[in-house]
Amino acid sequence: MDPDLKERLRFYQELGISDFYRPEPAAASAAVPNPAPPRPRPAPAPPPTPVFVPGPVTDDLFRATAPRETLEAIRADLGDCRRCQLHAGRNTIVFGSGNPKADVVFVGEGPGADEDAQGLPFVGRAGQLLTEMINNSAAKLNVPLRREQVYICNVLKCRPPGNRTPEKDEIDTCLPFLLRQLDAIRPRVIVALGATAARALLNTSEAMARLRGRWFEFRGARLLVTYHPAYLLRDPAKKREAWEDMQILLGFLYPREL
Ligand code: SF4
Repeated sequence: MDPDLKERLRFYQELGISDFYRPEPAAASAAVPNPAPPRPRPAPAPPPTPVFVPGPVTDDLFRATAPRETLEAIRADLGDCRRCQLHAGRNTIVFGSGNPKADVVFVGEGPGADEDAQGLPFVGRAGQLLTEMINNSAAKLNVPLRREQVYICNVLKCRPPGNRTPEKDEIDTCLPFLLRQLDAIRPRVIVALGATAARALLNTSEAMARLRGRWFEFRGARLLVTYHPAYLLRDPAKKREAWEDMQILLGFLYPREL
């Protein structure tokens, strides 16, 4: 079996998806009498109905009239940042990467060891899973989204020692740069990956169980909360819920196709 196909099947099976269909082959020749009609392909299950919950920050008017910064200008302003204690243990600032005009921005917690070494977000095992979540979910629903088309960044731009949970003052210090990035990109959807990103962006201490799989309004965009891929690596049983979240995301981005 083709290795890519094998990997994709493994991913779907981990999500609990086993309904694979293939079009019936055409009749081999006209000599075959009364060929059986092709088996109808069941329509894909509709995505879960999203719940739209107004969030705490709404400044559409400001965003519509404010001059738009470039990501390059924000990166230049960040410089060799030493604004919080995390600068001491980092190798590289991980600013973010991807399409500066993306419809979707994925926001994680902070760089891990691989990201700190390479200066790019989500390049380790969790990053590979994020790529699978985006590419394979889009392929499953037959919509054209690919990882290269989105923008990916983190709440923190420097790796916390030993990947510990970020301190509040570290988040408070670094968050304004993320908000400027989001205002510069102006995506239609922000996907918060995990509790740290969701709570930092929504300024809440709510549990993931109350945040996940729901829409929030945020700075003129929609914000969706799902699990961080690193959490899914530790608890693969949650992949099924992450798949439901991806259906919500893709159903909003591609309403005609789904
Ligand atoms: S985590 Fe953010 S605020 Fe802290 S040193 Fe790094 S770039 Fe600066």
